[in-house]
Amino acid sequence: MTQATSFSSDASAKSAEGTPDSEIIAVCDTLRSSFESGVTRSYEWRIQQLRQFMRMVEENEDAMIEALKQDLRKPYFEGWSAEPQFLKAELGHTLKKLKSWMKPKRVGASMAVQPARARIVPEPLGVALIIGAWNYPIQLSLAPLIGAIAAGNCAVVKPSELAPASSALQKRLVEKYLDRDCVRVVEGAVKETSLLLDQRWDHIFYTGGGAVGKIVMAAASKHLTPVTLELGGKSPCIVDQDVDLETAARRIVWGRFFNAGQTCVAPDYILVHESLERPLLDAMKNVIKEFYGDDPKQSDDYARIINKRHFERLSKLLDSGETFVGGETDGEQCYIAPTILRGITGDEPVMADEIFGPILPVLKVANVDQAIRFVNQRPKPLALYVFTRDKQTAERVVERTSSGGVCINDVISHMLPPDLPFGGVGASGMGAYHGKGTFDCFSHMKSVLDKPTFVDPALRYPPYTEEKMKWVKRLL
Ligand code: NAD
Repeated sequence: MTQATSFSSDASAKSAEGTPDSEIIAVCDTLRSSFESGVTRSYEWRIQQLRQFMRMVEENEDAMIEALKQDLRKPYFEGWSAEPQFLKAELGHTLKKLKSWMKPKRVGASMAVQPARARIVPEPLGVALIIGAWNYPIQLSLAPLIGAIAAGNCAVVKPSELAPASSALQKRLVEKYLDRDCVRVVEGAVKETSLLLDQRWDHIFYTGGGAVGKIVMAAASKHLTPVTLELGGKSPCIVDQDVDLETAARRIVWGRFFNAGQTCVAPDYILVHESLERPLLDAMKNVIKEFYGDDPKQSDDYARIINKRHFERLSKLLDSGETFVGGETDGEQCYIAPTILRGITGDEPVMADEIFGPILPVLKVANVDQAIRFVNQRPKPLALYVFTRDKQTAERVVERTSSGGVCINDVISHMLPPDLPFGGVGASGMGAYHGKGTFDCFSHMKSVLDKPTFVDPALRYPPYTEEKMKWVKRLL
C-alpha cells in the first residue's frame, strides 16, 4: 500500500516568481529581531494586527476571487465560501475570543508543593514558517497566520507556487496591511522553500502532500523545531444499507466535485452496501446533471485542474474499472469531467494514492464491518464519512476506525465549526488547527508555579531523618 502521492512541483508548471535568496535571509533576520524586541507579545499589537487582517480580507474579497479564478477557474461560490469567507469567520471568532485565550489559566497545586499557586501561561513560540498548498491557495496560507499572530508570533508565509496569482496577491496584501517587521510573505518553489527550511524556526506549519511533509520534518529536526503537518490521504465514504439515498448522493457529489475534486477532505472513494450500488450510482448521475448540466465543461460552477502535470496524472487514473459517468477530458483547458468509476476492487491505480481530482471510484461491500476492515487495512485518512440512518452503525464506524475527523451523513462540513480541531492522524498528518486550535498550535503552554517564602518547611531538606520520612509519607 503506497502512502499519499507526492504532488510536489515541477518546472513545466506555471509558477510564482521566487523571492531572491538575499531577501529571504534578510526577512528572517528582521523577523527574529522583531520577535526578540517583544513587540508582538502585547494584546494591543495582536488585536490591531487581526483587525487589519480583517480589513485586508474585507477590502480585497474581489481581488481574491479573481486570483482564484486565474489559478483554478474557481466558481464564485466555491472561491468566496472556502477562502475569504472562511478567513473572515476565523478572524471574527479569534477577535472575539483572543482576550480569554491569552489569559493564564489557574490550576490546582498538589499537596507536595503547598503553599503555592499554579498557572498555565500561553506564550508565543517565536518566529514561525507557514507553508501553504495550492488547492485553497489563500485560505491554507492565511488561516494558520491568524493563529500565529493571535498567539503573538512573527511569521513568514510561503504560499504555493502552483497558484501564482494567489501567491502574488498575498504578498502584496500582507505587506500592505500587516506589520512588515513581523509578518512577511516569501514566494517561490522548491529552491526558495529549501532555503527557508535551512533557517531556524520556532514552529513550522506545513500543508501539502506526505512526501514533502517528510522533507519538512527532517529539516525541522535539525533545530528540534516542532511541526504541524496538514497532509492528505484517501478519505473513505461508507454508504450503509439504511440510508437517505437522495440526500447522500447530493452531498457526496457536491463534496467530491467541489473545486474539481482538489480538496484534501473530499470523499476519495465510496464503499457502498452491495444492494444499493446501482441505486446510488443512478442517483449520483442525476445529481451531476442537476448540478453541472448536460456538459459540465460549459458550467460556470465547475473548476479546472491546477496544471498540465496534475491533468496528466489524473487522466491516467480514468482507465481504472468501468466509467459509469464522465470520463471526458480536454487537455487545453485542464478539464476533466465529473467522473464515477464502478467495478473497482481496491487493487487499481485509482485506489493506490489520494486521487485529488474529479474521479470517484465506487466499491461494493457486503456490510459495514467489511467496510471498516477495508479502511483499517489502509493508512489513516484525513476524513471519514458514513451515511446511515442507524445511530448504532454510525457509532460503530466512529469507534472502530481512526481518521483525522468524521462526518456522519455529510461530507467536508466537519471542518467548519471553529471549536472542532482540524487535522490528520498517522499518515494524514500531525497537530490540528482552526479556532482556538490555531492559537494553541502557535503557543507554548508554559507551567508556572509561584511559591511564597513566608514558610519553608524543613521536611524536604537533608538530613532525611526517619521522623521526616514518616511525616512526608503521611502528607503525600
Ligand atoms: P504543493 O505542491 O502546493 O506543495 C505544498 C508546499 O510544499 C508548497 O508550498 C511547495 O512549494 C512546497 N514544496 C513542494 N516541493 C517541495 C520540496 N521538494 N521541498 C520543500 N518544499 C516543497 O501541494 P501538494 O503537495 O500538491 O498538496 C496536495 C496534498 O496536500 C494532498 O495530499 C492534499 O490532500 C494535501 N492537503 C492537505 C490539506 C490539509 O489541510 N490537511 C489541505 C490541502 C491539501
